[in-house]
Amino acid sequence: MSTMKAVVFGGTNQLRIEERPIPVPRAGEAVIRITTTTICGTDVHIVKGEYPVKQGLILGHEPVGVIEELGGGLDAEYAVGQRVIVGAITPCGQCFYCLNGSHSQCGGALGGWRFGNTINGAWAEFLLVPDARANLAPIPDVLSDEDVLMCPDIFSTGLSGAQSGNIRVGDAVAVFAQGPIGLCATAGAKLMGASLIIGVDSIPGRLSVARQLGANVTLNIQDGDPVAEIKRLTGGRGVDVAIEALGRQETFENALAATRPGGTLSSLGVYAGKIAAPYDAFYAGLGDQKIVTSLCPGGHERMRRLMAMIETKRIDVSPLVTHRFGLDDIEDAFELFSHQSDGVLKVALFPERPATRQSEAVCALDTGV
Ligand SMILES: [Zn+2]
Ligand SMILES: [Zn+2]
Repeated sequence: MSTMKAVVFGGTNQLRIEERPIPVPRAGEAVIRITTTTICGTDVHIVKGEYPVKQGLILGHEPVGVIEELGGGLDAEYAVGQRVIVGAITPCGQCFYCLNGSHSQCGGALGGWRFGNTINGAWAEFLLVPDARANLAPIPDVLSDEDVLMCPDIFSTGLSGAQSGNIRVGDAVAVFAQGPIGLCATAGAKLMGASLIIGVDSIPGRLSVARQLGANVTLNIQDGDPVAEIKRLTGGRGVDVAIEALGRQETFENALAATRPGGTLSSLGVYAGKIAAPYDAFYAGLGDQKIVTSLCPGGHERMRRLMAMIETKRIDVSPLVTHRFGLDDIEDAFELFSHQSDGVLKVALFPERPATRQSEAVCALDTGV
């Protein structure tokens, strides 16, 4: 077989399944056969035309697979047939940014994000992995594809929100929005040792999962002003660290207003246009607050650490996978995910599975509250 099935960006609101040549690795590159992948909120922005990528690009940046072919120079460390994941961000490990510790900005602003952005991505039967030595991460035998499917992006990003916020043992933390990344930020706050973790969202099912993953208080924004309630819960001060996980003015503003003087706003959302910092929430610019941002840390060492946390059962993020589709059913999967129908958090996509036209929903998470 010299061609493969792939899902490509066909222009605004268009996804197409096409036959494409199977990539051939050059020295330092690898090709993996994708066994499981998924759809990210960023893919929704791309398909809606809100984030530009070139027409005909294979989308997707969350690969789980098996090494199919290795380019030169990799035999000593990797073998064909090995199960691996690759981070959504694939740093080279050698450029100015990488050597200054900003791996996600490899090569320039946002440059570490290549799959489904500047090079072909994971929604295909095979994927070419650049800088393979820095990026192929072997999966521990005891873990299934779905156990590790959140590692390439969602778990890495969510946890990085907690890490960039520099959460300390005993901190009070609020996480604004409990989508998949916000939920992983909530889990990350628990891993980092926060005492009070407040999850904020408008969807009861998501708040229920937030409690499962580490929130001890959840606030539904439909029930009242979350900032006033957060202030009440923290003796009028506000939280030590607020994490923004949606990318809208309203959540940014609430997160800033909920951050105590001297505290940190850790921002994970993807914003459009301008973001304003209101006078009160910003203490006129004199509140000693820190605002930090992060883009999903990648590289095999990051992936190894995330998988180690799952293997040792410090965390289980597999409940985020709520629906399953064959890659041929991408349109149905995309429709469901982009409209947040049926309590969906994340969908698993299987390139090898024949089209079914039906999803298998796991309903256990949707019954809460
Ligand atoms: Zn993503
Ligand atoms: Zn680099």
